[in-house]
Amino acid sequence: QNKDAVNIACLDEYSKKHFPLCMRHMHEVLTSTHHLKHNGRLQYGLFLKGIGVLYESANEFWRREFTKAMDSDKFEKKYSYNFKHQYGLVGNRVDYSPYSCIKIIMSNVGPGETHGCPFKHWDNAYLKSKLNEYGVDQEGVKEIMTLVSNKHYQIACTKYFELTHGQQQAANSIIHPNQYFEESMNLTKD
Ligand code: SF4
Repeated sequence: QNKDAVNIACLDEYSKKHFPLCMRHMHEVLTSTHHLKHNGRLQYGLFLKGIGVLYESANEFWRREFTKAMDSDKFEKKYSYNFKHQYGLVGNRVDYSPYSCIKIIMSNVGPGETHGCPFKHWDNAYLKSKLNEYGVDQEGVKEIMTLVSNKHYQIACTKYFELTHGQQQAANSIIHPNQYFEESMNLTKD
């Protein structure tokens, strides 16, 4: 296969409709600040690989964003290797897999970092305001925040999926960001 399953020109639109909160957030930070720190590049980069963005397009996408804030020489020297590495094209040539929710939930997120799981790592006020901004009503926000306070992060994510897809009950609980994407895409196919 040498064709992208997902065109990088669609990422803005897909991030709003089909990405889980963790990936939508990183897409927004990347496209507004033109940078993501190391762990964010990994978590978001491997997710993009998982939805079917091939290496050439991924490199083009990251270069386009990063070079809005730095020259392309610096991107090539300092960052390009990261993306080759994610696709197993350099180094030990491991074909890395996208991270599962558990792995993301268990990760450490330091100051200024944007990776991690919003339901686990964000403070309540910020999470509430983002849920609001993304169209979850007051009742839904309440339900999600109760799940979060009981540490049911993946159930909170599943609830978010249901509320933003007009579903009473999702077919499956969310356990992987790439599964979230696939289930969301499936709902739009008739
Ligand atoms: Fe992302 Fe998983 Fe957290 Fe949902 S539960 S926001 S898919 S890490």
